[in-house]
Amino acid sequence: MTEELPFEALSVETLAARLGGNDALCAKIGRDTGAWKVREVGDGNLNLVFIVEGDSGAAVVKQALPYVRLVGDSWPLPLKRSFFEYHALTRQEARAPGSVPAIHYFDERQALIIMEYLAPPHIILRRALIDGRQLPNIARDIGLFMARTLFRGSDLHMAAKDRKADLALFADNVELCDITESLVFSDPYFDAKMNRHTSPQLDGLVAELRADRDLKVEAQRLKHMFAANAETLLHGDLHSGSIMVTDTETRMIDPEFAFYGPMAFDVGMLLANFWMSFFSQRGHEQKGKRDAMRAYLLGVTVETWSVFRAEFSHLWRTERTGMLYQKSLFEDQGDKLGAEQALDHVLHQMWTDLLGFAGIEVHRRILGLAHNADFETIADEDLRASCEAKALKFGRHLAVNRRQIHSIDEVNQLAALIEQESSI
Ligand code: ADP
Ligand code: MG
Repeated sequence: MTEELPFEALSVETLAARLGGNDALCAKIGRDTGAWKVREVGDGNLNLVFIVEGDSGAAVVKQALPYVRLVGDSWPLPLKRSFFEYHALTRQEARAPGSVPAIHYFDERQALIIMEYLAPPHIILRRALIDGRQLPNIARDIGLFMARTLFRGSDLHMAAKDRKADLALFADNVELCDITESLVFSDPYFDAKMNRHTSPQLDGLVAELRADRDLKVEAQRLKHMFAANAETLLHGDLHSGSIMVTDTETRMIDPEFAFYGPMAFDVGMLLANFWMSFFSQRGHEQKGKRDAMRAYLLGVTVETWSVFRAEFSHLWRTERTGMLYQKSLFEDQGDKLGAEQALDHVLHQMWTDLLGFAGIEVHRRILGLAHNADFETIADEDLRASCEAKALKFGRHLAVNRRQIHSIDEVNQLAALIEQESSI
């Protein structure tokens, strides 16, 4: 494929003919296109994802479409999201080596990325959690990933000039940001067109939440922070559906929502997905009790936040080379305590904010357009609604009371308390 050809969507039938001359792909999987087996994965919402297997290996080809795949051309979405995904992946690899699939090739015009195939037993983390699997390494791996990417993409570490150039590059990811701005922060709190919820079971609670002035104000304060606080390069969509795992490995995928925003956003969204998994377990208990799974999930939130804090603090002490809280003001004057005091402030603020982002992430997954499989796969609607109602109450509490919550143990005690309530 040459750069000059206009964009054209690939298909299972055309892929071998169109990419047969691609050296990067041939080097990975073999040149004999007659032997290539192509299939489309098909569980993505926005893009095409193909798995191509050849004589000597396999690779993934991900291509954006000029619209949202799930909805069709009635919802246009620019191809350039692939450009942002590619650039986010290369930065994540540089800042947290080994945490994302290896990138073999990128074609901007065709909006396609050729990357490492994360073969089975890799599965999407969300699926593993629904199945009740306790992965031993996720908290550590994801905690490190977040600390390294968020710290190293910020003015705590980067040269101001480089960070500003990067900020300008990602500022153009307008359309995907707009999706987050609307779907996460606003739509759940009014009767927006594409919203849905488990009805009629949740109708009363949904009306209550939409009339909740404190909640609406808090959601908008968080949106304000998301839009105005360009602190670091976020993954932007870091939930359990954007993470692939085995018992020993963890990889983050799909950063097409990458954008400069507040550090607490990625961390809050991620933790919210563990808490949603926690509240959904009751709906997956037919195959056996999930008490141990619930305890595991709360343990994962504790460990993730603790690993994150430890790594972030380590980087603060060893890689604080940017213009913020510069060493010339602290360590260089023998004032190590000052640097520690500033670190405490930064982590404390992040903690308060991530609780808010977590709370509204829970809401948007139950009230908005993009629901998650944790709840959606609970076939009994009354049971699903009961799990969702508890999660909604939990989310509301986090968003509104975040300044009064001081530890993750406190959050988890609250989650356990709400979970044990009889029903809605
Ligand atoms: P979308 O942006 O459309 O949501 P994703 O990047 O989430 O697409 O990919 C959709 C699905 O394709 C994932 O849920 C996963 O099952 C599969 N997938 C994506 N990237 C890889 C990869 N590198 N290796 C294996 N499977 C992948
Ligand atoms: Mg995506």
